[in-house]
Amino acid sequence: MAQQDTDQQHAGVLPVDDEGYVVDTEDCEERETGWRERGTSRPITVVGNPVLHKECADVTEFGPELEELIADMFASQRTAEGVGLAANQIGVSRKVFVYDCPDDDGVRHTGVVVNPRLVELPAAARRLDDSNEGCLSVPTAYAPLARPDYAEVTGQDEKGNPIKVRGTGYFARCLQHETDHLYGYLYIDRLSKRDRKDALRQMAENEPRYDVVAND
Ligand SMILES: [Zn+2]
Repeated sequence: MAQQDTDQQHAGVLPVDDEGYVVDTEDCEERETGWRERGTSRPITVVGNPVLHKECADVTEFGPELEELIADMFASQRTAEGVGLAANQIGVSRKVFVYDCPDDDGVRHTGVVVNPRLVELPAAARRLDDSNEGCLSVPTAYAPLARPDYAEVTGQDEKGNPIKVRGTGYFARCLQHETDHLYGYLYIDRLSKRDRKDALRQMAENEPRYDVVAND
């Protein structure tokens, strides 16, 4: 049935700006704490675990089970001191990621995206940023990786409402990195053979500072 009130049509969990993008910069501390206090921190899967190397399933049911998963993801993200976490990083093959990430202006962004899709941007609009990138699933390793410094993702919030999220700088990198995870890709899959090998060497030589799931 058609809604008369246009405000109601856009009633997602978070407010939206004039262009329809979620405002994920308000009440970050309260929202992040609210999620993680309901959740349980879980160990992080690492490169080589099959769950990280295949596309996750679309989320089709929005309810308490999904919210529990999201709460566990926020708890795990905090324990591992991450700025973003995909569901398969705690072993669940579902298309959901959470983030709690500053952009290059130091503004904190906190949110959840279900069934994300990266919006293709025209090549002319792309400016590459070759900052360092790391991943909780490749513990202790970092490598420079060129990525567009602006990204947009479409998807749904935890209640199933359609949302659009956009970000610049480090946060744009996060949106691309987390969406990649849910399609079975790690950032090291985008590195040269040499840089990938170096990242795996860094991982082998150092101890993670959080619990990980041992690979068989
Ligand atoms: Zn990652």
